[in-house]
Amino acid sequence: MSLVDRVERDRELARAAEVVDRCRKCVIGTTRRSSVYGEGDPCAALMVVGEGPGETEDKLGRPFVGRAGELLDRMLLAIGLPREDVYICNTVKCRPTVDTGTRLANRAPTPEEMRNCRPYLDEQIAIIRPRIILALGAPAAKSFLGERFSITKQRGQWFEGPYDIPLLASFHPAYILRQTGGAMTEVKRLVWVDLKQVRDRLAAPPEPPAAAAPEQHSLFD
Ligand code: URA
Repeated sequence: MSLVDRVERDRELARAAEVVDRCRKCVIGTTRRSSVYGEGDPCAALMVVGEGPGETEDKLGRPFVGRAGELLDRMLLAIGLPREDVYICNTVKCRPTVDTGTRLANRAPTPEEMRNCRPYLDEQIAIIRPRIILALGAPAAKSFLGERFSITKQRGQWFEGPYDIPLLASFHPAYILRQTGGAMTEVKRLVWVDLKQVRDRLAAPPEPPAAAAPEQHSLFD
């Protein structure tokens, strides 16, 4: 990737982030502190897509910088990828919250919020053109693969994502952190299996789109 391409992609991403920052399609566009567009290498081979910004991300305007983000950083390093070499973003760019009466708590994005934000995510993918998309958690996976997607049954399988980019879903780091004891050990084991698939596919020479098709599964086979 030439320096000129890199600079041009950075410029396109910065322009797109400004549009997102002005967006008010959803109520969460008015309740959030900062929009959280995404960050990382504009030429990354791997794009990680999470659910939506949480409290820390909303405060800092950066994705995955809270506890889940720290774990994500360790997960990526375990497959030899420093965070800066990856592009990290979310299905929605504003923090989805619910008012508990005493504070604003995080919640999963609604299908409508994900639909509203989808053009921004698609544009982001089109600019970066990663070799692989890793969707973390059921909401992110469902936003790409449909409501019938089951994270417990279908994580770790390859699917065709936007622009025919190979996509794999795994458990969200926040989900891992919510487990205890043996359950946590088992979830970590499964995520490690998934991460190794990502690592191995990135290490292999890029396959032409037609050659990638037979080993991919469709939800509707
Ligand atoms: N969880 C997410 O899905 N995304 C973030 O950016 C942070 C936590």
